[in-house]
Amino acid sequence: MTAGVLYVVATPIGNLGDISARALRTLAEVDAIAAEDTRHTLQLLQHFDLRKTLIALHEHNEAEQAELLVHRLLAGEQLALVSDAGTPLISDPGFRLVSAAHAAGVPVRTVPGASAAMAALSVSGQSCDRFVFEGFLPARSAARRGRLAELFAEQRSLIFYEAPHRLQETLADLLGVMGDRSITLCRELTKAYETVLRMPLSELCERVRHDADQCRGEIVLVLAGCASQSGGDVQEHRRVLDILLQELPPSQAAALAARLTGGRRKWFYEEALAREPKD
Ligand code: SAM
Repeated sequence: MTAGVLYVVATPIGNLGDISARALRTLAEVDAIAAEDTRHTLQLLQHFDLRKTLIALHEHNEAEQAELLVHRLLAGEQLALVSDAGTPLISDPGFRLVSAAHAAGVPVRTVPGASAAMAALSVSGQSCDRFVFEGFLPARSAARRGRLAELFAEQRSLIFYEAPHRLQETLADLLGVMGDRSITLCRELTKAYETVLRMPLSELCERVRHDADQCRGEIVLVLAGCASQSGGDVQEHRRVLDILLQELPPSQAAALAARLTGGRRKWFYEEALAREPKD
C-alpha cells in the first residue's frame, strides 16, 4: 500500500482573491481536509463551491488527531491541512501532525500562499535581508518586557503578531525596553481597511493613543533591529557583563560594564535583567 500525501495548504489572510489555483485544486482533490475551525473552513469551501469532509484539528485535540490522521495517510488517503487564515503551523496548529507524518514516512508537501508575517515584512519598509519571527509576545507585561529584554541586541528586523486589545500596552513596552526605533504597524492586510504606518515608536504610541481605529483588526508589528552594537561588540559586552554579574547587582554591573566598554548602560541593564530567573 502506497502512503498518501499530506498537503499543507495556505489560505488567504483576508482577501479571498489571494487563494492560489493550486490550493483550490488540492482542496478539491484530497479525500479530506484537517481544519483548525471546521465552520470557518466550511465558509471558505462554500465560497469556492467545494464540498469536502472536514476534520477538526486544533490545539486541544491535535495529539490524538495527529495519530488518527497518520493512520489514514498510511492507508493511502490524501489529506490537506489548513488553518483559519494564512499558512498552517505559523502561530497555528499543525506541528504535531506534520512531525508525526515525517516520523511515519508520509510525504509532506507544501501548497504555499499568504502568511501575515511575510506580507507585513514585505511592505514594512524595514530591512528584509535578515529577520526574526517572534509570533505573539507574552500576554502579561512583566513576561513581555522580559522577552523583549532578551531581544534587545537583536540586529535583524523583528516581526510580532499582536492582538488589537493589547496593542497600546505592547507598544509602550516596546518603547520602554527597545528604545525609540523605527517600527511599522501593519493592520488588516489585504482587507478593506489595510493600513501600513512606519514611524518612530514614540510617534506610533501617540498616534495609536489618539486614533482608536488603529487598535482594531488584525495586526503585525515589524520593528527595526538594534543598530547600536556590532555583533563582535555584543559578544564581548556580554562576556564583560557576565563577569561583573558574578560580583555585583544588575544596576551596578551595568554601570561598570558601560564604563569599561564604552557601551550603553541601558543596554547592559536590560541584558542583566534578562539573565535573572523569570517567574
Ligand atoms: N498562520 C497565520 C499566518 O500565516 O499568518 C497566522 C495565524 S495567527 C493565529 C493570527 C495572527 O496573524 C493575527 O492575530 C495577526 O497578528 C496576524 N494576521 C493574520 N491575518 C492578518 C491580516 N490580514 N493583517 C494583519 N495581521 C494578520
